[in-house]
Amino acid sequence: MSAEILNGTRLAQQIRSQIRKRLKKLTFAPGLAVVQVGNDPASTLYIKHKQRDCDKVHFHSEVHRLSSEISQQVLINKVDELNDRSDIHGILVQMPLPKTIDEQTIIDAITPDKDVDGLTPHNLGDLFINREGITPCTPTGIIRLIESSGVSIEGKHAVCVGRSHLVGKPVGIMLLNRNATVTYCHSRTSNLTEMTKQADILIAAVGKPEFITAEMIKRGAIVIDVGINSIEERLVGDVKFDEVKDVAGYITPVPGGVGPLTRAMLLENTLKLAI
Ligand code: NAP
Repeated sequence: MSAEILNGTRLAQQIRSQIRKRLKKLTFAPGLAVVQVGNDPASTLYIKHKQRDCDKVHFHSEVHRLSSEISQQVLINKVDELNDRSDIHGILVQMPLPKTIDEQTIIDAITPDKDVDGLTPHNLGDLFINREGITPCTPTGIIRLIESSGVSIEGKHAVCVGRSHLVGKPVGIMLLNRNATVTYCHSRTSNLTEMTKQADILIAAVGKPEFITAEMIKRGAIVIDVGINSIEERLVGDVKFDEVKDVAGYITPVPGGVGPLTRAMLLENTLKLAI
């Protein structure tokens, strides 16, 4: 039997519609500022989608485009300027940044109460001690997708393949905070298939096209594919969808799975920071 598809596009639409309803009680528009350094085409496309989403829920959004030649200090000054603006509630610096700029230094420059992607040490610290706060958009979207399956996270064995600060590590903590038993796998894990085969919930955040195959999956598992890989002008995930769907119980598609949820969580976090 084929897995049930966890439809991120539909879930994101529902979340936007809830946001529009909550917005009716506000007398001002939440404001999101995105900073782009350089003109990486993928980043430009992601930012366009984010702006379009803001328009859909009547948020104010603005993009600050800076040359890839700028110094780290110029970028810090831009972040500071946005930190001081009362009409901007969320600041997102689009990654990746040029190699000349240290990404963590830039994240550190964002004031935690405008840190819309929940990646400052302050907000990650709150997540670590399970205190309510702003949580990173992609991991939060992943949790929403799992919840949309109706399967309880508590007591399940969750395996995260990938341990980045952006996705793997925080989503593992979020699953742990919801009483899953969590295993992290990474490039130095020696017995990956043995690990993934035990997963009731498998999070694939590797950045390698179709890396997770059917033989790595426990029958009936929830498989969340975070990967976005461009191959011959086609987007594929980190999971070999066509074969894994015949073993998994639930699976997210690429595109139309985690991506739309990441953007919906960006809107939710902007609203949270605004009110
Ligand atoms: P990343 O920073 O490159 O991290 C990749 C992780 O995969 C690392 O922890 C790495 O291990 C691990 N890894 C690499 N090769 C492996 C192997 N052979 N076996 C097991 N683990 C391996 O990537 P990321 O930022 O987490 O993103 C992962 C993917 O998600 C990318 O395709 C990215 O484009 C996508 N993404 C999608 C969204 C969305 O909204 N849909 C958002 C963010 C990212 P080490 O730590 O040992 O190096």
